[in-house]
Amino acid sequence: MEQSKADRKPVLRALCEAIKARIDYRQFYLRFCREERPTMSGARLQTRCPIPAHAHMGKGQPSFSVDLARGLFHCFSRDEGGDAIHFYELMHDVSFARAVNEMARELNLDPETQDSRQPSLAFASAPDAETADYFEPSTTPLAAERMGCVCEKFLEVCREEDQTEAVNYLARRGLDSKTVRGAGISYFPRRAYRRVMRRMQEAFALEELQQSGLFNARAHLTFYRHRLLFPFYVEKRAVYLQARTTAAGVEPRWHNLRGGVPALYNIDALDNLASDAIVYLVEGFTDTLTLAAHNFAAVGLVGAGGLKEEWIASLARFQVVAALDPDTAGERAAVRYREMFARRGLQLACLKLSSDVNEFFRHRPSAALELALLTETALDVP
Ligand SMILES: [Zn+2]
Repeated sequence: MEQSKADRKPVLRALCEAIKARIDYRQFYLRFCREERPTMSGARLQTRCPIPAHAHMGKGQPSFSVDLARGLFHCFSRDEGGDAIHFYELMHDVSFARAVNEMARELNLDPETQDSRQPSLAFASAPDAETADYFEPSTTPLAAERMGCVCEKFLEVCREEDQTEAVNYLARRGLDSKTVRGAGISYFPRRAYRRVMRRMQEAFALEELQQSGLFNARAHLTFYRHRLLFPFYVEKRAVYLQARTTAAGVEPRWHNLRGGVPALYNIDALDNLASDAIVYLVEGFTDTLTLAAHNFAAVGLVGAGGLKEEWIASLARFQVVAALDPDTAGERAAVRYREMFARRGLQLACLKLSSDVNEFFRHRPSAALELALLTETALDVP
């Protein structure tokens, strides 16, 4: 039946009310703020403002605050605030009507009756808010040994699915299939979600799957939007993994297992490397693998600021060259890392590229040669 615009307005209003009755504000806001490392005090969430149009560039003090009891946000830098629906409009740059409709769909609210239906997979697979590592976990984390078993099995199960979408996605970023295979990257298409979930259920007790963060409290696999898996190998064993969405516009872009990142990404590649060899310290999986694809030894950080003190020892026998992103976070991290290395009597050379490593290689035909020359210069500077 056709509805006139005027007739739909009350529906929109009713949907708004239904959304506010159903929504979990903490989970909702965290979805968009997870990468900004929010802090909680009581029912207030505080973080750097994630609103794209504000373009805060990751600078300055956390200026974004959410009242989780009422679901209201406020950005103090721009003096802009409102409810969760307005926040959704700003994050996705969509109209009010579209925000309401999309949020209602996510929450399985029927526009006609506002009745709840069978939860959709997108809803059922949402990670538990508590599993983020800055919150007190609701269950004890899985022991490292068992975590490794879950990782290995998950990668194996996913690798049996069709990898075409992943291969194409990575090829567009300049990563060839040999590099992708070498890095143990694994993928499954969305249509395989239920099969992958079932096979993991067959292999492990639900409690272990939940402790690892692979499954949520609703007994669903949490890797639903994020299905491109990047394993961390230590001594040839996967110990952890992070997953990326390959779809545009999905926030957050990354989802990972429970617990912190246990090692430098690609650290295993240094095992057979001669002492005094050059090793690049870069940001992220793509930059690491871009260098690996061009026969440079590289290890990756998750985020510019991710280097841990205890990892430096594993780099001590090499000539380490940092090539972090040319942004404020990258530059600040390079200064800090130089000091961390110096405290141990080690040198850290720093490269300043015009872009991140992946872009540098994609846009310059002679990137490998240029990088070698820049590295030579950086190593000469005491
Ligand atoms: Zn803002």
